[in-house]
Amino acid sequence: MALYADLHRHLGGSVVPRVLWRYFKRRDREMAQRFPEYPEFEEFYTRERNTLDEYLELHTLVEGVQTPETLPYFIYRLIRGAYIFENLAYLELRYTPYLRTDERLSQNERLDQMAEIVEIVGKASQVPEYPIVTRQILCMHSRLPHDVNRAIAKLAAQMPEYVCAIDVAGGDAHYADRLDEFTRLYEWARSQNIKTTGHLYETPDGCYPELLPYLMRIGHGIQIPLLRPELLPEIARRGQCLEVCPTTYLKTGTLDDLHQLKTVFDRCFEAGVDIAICTDNAGLHNVRLPFEYENLLTQDVIDFAQLQACQDAAFRHAFAWPHPQRPESLLTEALGAS
Ligand SMILES: [Zn+2]
Repeated sequence: MALYADLHRHLGGSVVPRVLWRYFKRRDREMAQRFPEYPEFEEFYTRERNTLDEYLELHTLVEGVQTPETLPYFIYRLIRGAYIFENLAYLELRYTPYLRTDERLSQNERLDQMAEIVEIVGKASQVPEYPIVTRQILCMHSRLPHDVNRAIAKLAAQMPEYVCAIDVAGGDAHYADRLDEFTRLYEWARSQNIKTTGHLYETPDGCYPELLPYLMRIGHGIQIPLLRPELLPEIARRGQCLEVCPTTYLKTGTLDDLHQLKTVFDRCFEAGVDIAICTDNAGLHNVRLPFEYENLLTQDVIDFAQLQACQDAAFRHAFAWPHPQRPESLLTEALGAS
């Protein structure tokens, strides 16, 4: 049995359509009336969008139902599916804790409530019958005020038992005017030994070379090999890894065809830049990690040796995988020794 690591998965996009539809049927009369039958809901939820912004709007649908009360319900199902269907040994789950707090509270009260959310997510992720090593990445958000983003970064420093890193999410085109702000937050995070990743170079409108030195991994980053391949040697020197999420680019209209990723993989391999293949929004896409792998193989984007290299890279660049090796090698050793 091979065991995998997913380094880039959003809590909001991790709910598979059937779990969400069942939830609406039980708890949300308006949505239940809008989608009385499952197939229409699946079509609505998983169809391709024209832009990244349109696609991100769907996250708000799920964020709205992921409250302190319901989070354990959704996370239990996420962990169960990840263990049974995806063979995950390691998962970094990311989200913006502020967006799971109670909207009726004041901003300060919501900031206080964030620690409670992190604890709920952390505890719900530990399911003894489905043992996956999980950590949280807290996402600062391109549309949230500076004070909130600063509180998110601080919270990451305060809760290392649950949180392994910070990120910036919310569409890479939207923080062009606030680069200084995010650069300073990342600089501070690094000074506190908080690990860092960030959504950038996902679309042609989100290319910010000034942020790169502060990131340990790059969320997407596909526009680097596509548009700025001259940056690759520097990325390789810094040991940064790209978190490539193939299905996302089709769902957001960033790429027309999966085969366009061949250039991304080829140029990165040639330059010695590691790639971890990730799902981003496995539920929203209804595409789980093994199918991301399979799609890349069947469409000749990568071969089996390259897949193995990417799977190894995922464990090597994991922020909190506790062993020097992949679980597969641990298992092989154990079987060989018996
Ligand atoms: Zn993402």
